[in-house]
Amino acid sequence: MTEHTDPGRDQLKQHFAQRVINQARQVLEVWQRLQRQDWNEARMHELREAALLLQRYAERFDQAEHAQLAEAVGHCMHVAADNHGRLTSELIGELNRLMQQLSRTGLRHGDRFEQTLLPPLRKPVYLALQHLERAEHLAQQLAFFGMSAQPLDSANAFRAAMLERHPAAILMDVNFSGPGAGLHLAAAVQQGLEQKIPLLFCGPEDTDTPTRLTAVRAGGQEFLTGSLDASGLLERIEVLTQVAQYDPYRVLIIDDSRAQATHTERVLNGAGILTRTLTEPIQAMAELAEFQPDLIILDMYMPGCSGTELAKVIRHNDRYVGVPIIYLSAEDDLDKQLDAMSEGGDDFLTKPIKPRHLIATVRNRAARARHLKARMVRDSLTGLYNHTHTLQLLEDARYRAQRDGQPLSFAMLDIDYFKRVNDTYGHPMGDRVIKSLALFLKQRLRKTDHIGRYGGEEFAVVMPGTDARAAQQVIDGIRRRFAEIHYPAHPQDLSCTFSAGIAELRDDMDGKHLSQQADEALYRAKHGGRNRVERYVAD
Ligand code: GH3
Ligand code: MG
Ligand code: MG
Repeated sequence: MTEHTDPGRDQLKQHFAQRVINQARQVLEVWQRLQRQDWNEARMHELREAALLLQRYAERFDQAEHAQLAEAVGHCMHVAADNHGRLTSELIGELNRLMQQLSRTGLRHGDRFEQTLLPPLRKPVYLALQHLERAEHLAQQLAFFGMSAQPLDSANAFRAAMLERHPAAILMDVNFSGPGAGLHLAAAVQQGLEQKIPLLFCGPEDTDTPTRLTAVRAGGQEFLTGSLDASGLLERIEVLTQVAQYDPYRVLIIDDSRAQATHTERVLNGAGILTRTLTEPIQAMAELAEFQPDLIILDMYMPGCSGTELAKVIRHNDRYVGVPIIYLSAEDDLDKQLDAMSEGGDDFLTKPIKPRHLIATVRNRAARARHLKARMVRDSLTGLYNHTHTLQLLEDARYRAQRDGQPLSFAMLDIDYFKRVNDTYGHPMGDRVIKSLALFLKQRLRKTDHIGRYGGEEFAVVMPGTDARAAQQVIDGIRRRFAEIHYPAHPQDLSCTFSAGIAELRDDMDGKHLSQQADEALYRAKHGGRNRVERYVAD
């Protein structure tokens, strides 16, 4: 190990490392803008230049992974240039993969691996709440989960803080520093800013519609009511601030005319939307499972099976009831259009359609569908996936793992002696422990892992690309850390532990089988004395 202790040198390194990080974020931001704007020469140029600079910095400061990713982005730009500057679905997919990776890439300093991943915010969140103690309490909780927050006690303090430094996000009480004053304060500081700061408002449960409307006009992206809990807030702030969150929309086009489909694909790809085309409607169900589109564009008239028939078939499957279906057809008979809509369609677009119109419709519908889906599949206390959806994700992951010959592990966690927590400290305290474990898991597991609340105080984690041994290490690390948390309480502070069982996918197993094995391992962990992680062993 050769650690440099020369402080000057360390500082210099730190400085350069920051440059790489900033440039990486720059690349991610250009990419993210594609969600709102269209792809064009200027954007392509911008992305190419940003990637080039990142590569240069990264090479100079020995950040091999960043350098390699930047080069790969540059390569994509070359391919696009050869394709007359057009983005294809393959390119969007590839770029997205690179960007996701980039957002997770840490910096290496010699032998030390520094866990400063990109998006975790370096900047604080400003908390402008009506009651300072409340803001301070919230800041404390947020700090516990690695987010720094700065409570502010007056309009002047807020303005001064804004002048000094722009925060990662602002949480503003509509009544901060006077009834309705928070609204105006926030609107005033956002004005004239080229890059708007993510803004969340909060207010009383019974806030009236005019106030909410003013909040929207002031640029508020969320309106929170009731008690503000750290985990919920953290989640929303992450969504608003994480540059890597942009996952391109996925659209499945079903059309027997290759020419029409290609045209639609081109338009959508140019807006950064991933597409896949099916000319054989019969394969629709298989394709839905594999591609998992956010939205379907369906031709009305196809040989063998009409669009409305296919829509009905799709709607029969519970899993896809929420996926919007848009008919695209030359049919301009309004009655026929209405008939089609009553058969499971969500919208009807007539050909020829203006590209802008198509893009806007797809974006709006897909965004809403994602939003609704997130509500349907998540548990309301923790924001984790619910039981049913966790099992679906396990099933999808199993399919992919077996197809790609990759390992897959499944972990089940259960808090130890949780009944006692409820009995001694009350149910709300129990809820708090459940929430904090949920947050803990979210922060410490990989983005590719799926975390679910399996039951009351039971959790499950689907871990693709991970064998049982590695999974055990990860979960065990979390177990140790979690046991160290002390929750302030009477008559004395509380701390909790959990037990976990892990199983790894073998050939010809199904998801149910895998979860049974994880459950068996969990049972052994409990019987072995709790506060431990066991792997499944066949007897
Ligand atoms: P073990 O170590 O064997 O897991 O013991 P345990 O007490 O944790 O296990 P048990 O399954 O007997 O009890 C779980 C308790 O968790 C029972 C239930 O009242 C409580 N619980 C379930 N869901 C919630 C919840 O959402 N909030 C709270 N506060 N408690 C819950
Ligand atoms: Mg239990
Ligand atoms: Mg338990």
